Amino acid sequence: MKAIIVGGGPAGARAGELLANQGARVILYEARAGWEKPCGGGVPERGVDFCPFLAESRTPHVLARRARIFSPRGREALVDLAEPLRIYSRSRLNGLFLERARAQGAELRGRRIVSLSRRERGWKVVDSAGREETADFLVGADGASGLVRGRLGAHLPPLRQTLGIGYYVDGFTSAEVVLKFFRGLDGYLWVFPRPDHLAVGICGPTGQASRTALAQEMSRFLADLYGNGVLRRLRSYGARIPSPPAEAERGSGCIGQGWALVGDAAGFVDPLTREGIHYAVASATFLSEALARGEPAAYPARWISEFGLELDWASRHKALFFAPRFMEAFTSLSRCPPISSIVSDLIAGRQDYRSLRRRLASHLPRVGGALGLLLLKRLVAGRTASPPPSLVPLPAE
Ligand SMILES: Cc1cc2nc3c(=O)[nH]c(=O)nc-3n(C[C@H](O)[C@H](O)[C@H](O)COP(=O)(O)OP(=O)(O)OC[C@H]3O[C@@H](n4cnc5c(N)ncnc54)[C@H](O)[C@@H]3O)c2cc1C
Repeated sequence: MKAIIVGGGPAGARAGELLANQGARVILYEARAGWEKPCGGGVPERGVDFCPFLAESRTPHVLARRARIFSPRGREALVDLAEPLRIYSRSRLNGLFLERARAQGAELRGRRIVSLSRRERGWKVVDSAGREETADFLVGADGASGLVRGRLGAHLPPLRQTLGIGYYVDGFTSAEVVLKFFRGLDGYLWVFPRPDHLAVGICGPTGQASRTALAQEMSRFLADLYGNGVLRRLRSYGARIPSPPAEAERGSGCIGQGWALVGDAAGFVDPLTREGIHYAVASATFLSEALARGEPAAYPARWISEFGLELDWASRHKALFFAPRFMEAFTSLSRCPPISSIVSDLIAGRQDYRSLRRRLASHLPRVGGALGLLLLKRLVAGRTASPPPSLVPLPAE
């Protein structure tokens, strides 16, 4: 098989690596190889299951072992993470994926695909230099607003759009991730430490909050948490994050005759956390395994059973998750051991949403006791403050 892959992010590069490893001739087009995609760069451990080499790779990253969570009213919980969150700069992470694809024999072309058309057997694409290429199979890994989804996914329901804006805060790193929730925002703010900067961002559905309001919230929160000094060296960014609509078709439309979509291009993004890296690599894995078996239809079937139903449920129950009352209770309870391990599992991608309510409820009797104990300790020892936020200044270059 000869395959053209449009897009060399985690989805396209991983698909390229796996298909080339299976003996396919792979031509991988990436318009912006080496770019720093606006992103938190957090890869949950469930994503590492699909890319075990990440656990051994020397690509610089931070292993965050603690999460500091703030509710809309400012309640704070510190949660030790049983499995760390790996946080990468996207140029480094993409570089690693592309290098692995190349090492398996995929041919990387640093050009944009500007048009595509069907041929009697397969596809013809034209790149930004006007060169043509043909193949039997076409993989769209060029993101939610990419050319391939636009051309081949016209039958798919339109994706929801979230506005994400952020700062790369130079001069500091940290040992913990910070998550902050707000009243009236179906989104959240994150501080993800990387080896040589903090990746800070805030997201909310387009139309719910303006760019200016989000930027003000973010600056105010950072100054309150770390002091004004942290705001000195900022590089700002803005981006759209896609997520599946409620009542989505769960992923069955991600494949057709001689083509498939993976990652963001297929709309495979968590509608609550807006994470997509591990879905990108998982979809690349499912697609390549299905093609290797000569059963393309196994790709959407596996996607739906492993993630599609789950993300569909999350889309439909989004409002419950971001409801201020839920967030206040959830943050308070996260301080107690049974619930803190659920939060740790959520961050690692080990806790699915559909069984979350059942698991929370099953722990409530124990939580009641643990909360009582916390209250008693406070009465005896006075209010115990959380350790101060972790912020590590880096030496000036
Ligand atoms: C602000 C923000 C924060 C995020 N934070 C996180 C996070 O912390 N953790 C997480 O898991 N996810 C996060 N996400 C989501 C994550 O970035 C995506 O889900 C993930 O990158 C999807 O990978 P992909 O390979 O499908 O697409 P992409 O990474 O978007 O890659 C698509 C590639 O296709 C290339 N391309 C596009 N068109 C063409 C063309 N015509 N020809 C050639 N190449 C083309 C682009 O240059 C791009 O490199 C975040 C997203 C945003 C916007």
